[in-house]
Amino acid sequence: MRIDLITVFPEMIAQAVKFGVIGRAKDKNLLEIVTHDLRNFTKDRHRSVDDYCYGGGPGMLMKLEPLFEAVESIHYDCNSRKVILLSPQGKLFNQEMARQLSLIDHLIMICGRYKGVDERVYEHLITDEISIGDYVLSGGEIPALTIVDAVSRLLPGALGNYESAQDDSFSDGILDCPHYTRPAEYRGMSVPEVLLSGDPKKISKWQRQKALMRTFQKRPDLLKPEVLSEDDLEFLETLGFEYNRDM
Ligand code: SAH
Repeated sequence: MRIDLITVFPEMIAQAVKFGVIGRAKDKNLLEIVTHDLRNFTKDRHRSVDDYCYGGGPGMLMKLEPLFEAVESIHYDCNSRKVILLSPQGKLFNQEMARQLSLIDHLIMICGRYKGVDERVYEHLITDEISIGDYVLSGGEIPALTIVDAVSRLLPGALGNYESAQDDSFSDGILDCPHYTRPAEYRGMSVPEVLLSGDPKKISKWQRQKALMRTFQKRPDLLKPEVLSEDDLEFLETLGFEYNRDM
């Protein structure tokens, strides 16, 4: 997979992708990350990437020519490509979108700044508009890095055994169960007995029920009866979960 990022702060991206899972995915050639300094696509003496808005009003807007020229300068032979604009108005990013993006060969991400981008970028240059949440940040770099992180850890081979993504929250529609490591006892706080029992069946039942319990307590909106088993639903009912049985 290749990801190109267009930004006025290429150093911000370059630093952040050196570490951890993303850095390792790059070292293993699972992922290539290329950053483009938007100012290199300006033609004026001041290398300006922003300008006033037509119609007046405060604040500056990102000009469209450098953005078009930056995207057009990127050549990478592949089967599938998306040109993504980071924007608070976009589709809300989630784990399922991360999974779908991880299957694409080439992502180009445009990091906005100021008041955002000229509307013609939205209308004619991009294929997708993505938001990382209902709040406004000062730039698209952190949102872009958020997506790069979520996507790169899903690339086959990116995670070591010890990081396994299999039971992650959201991966099967519910939250991850609680986890413990040594010591078994610290200041009177002990690890649940069942985890020390060595009985794999009992342990996996406990883990499933804890995961369901947490989801019910913390994020009941995630529980979708149609993807849960009879056992799951029976257990959830004991907690007070109500759903329409005829669904
Ligand atoms: N005036 C714009 C916000 C501009 S914020 C509006 O109200 O829609 C400046 C830039 O930060 C945006 O162009 C975008 O690239 C980025 N940004 C801010 N919040 C974001 C979010 N929640 N998700 C993704 N990108 C965001």
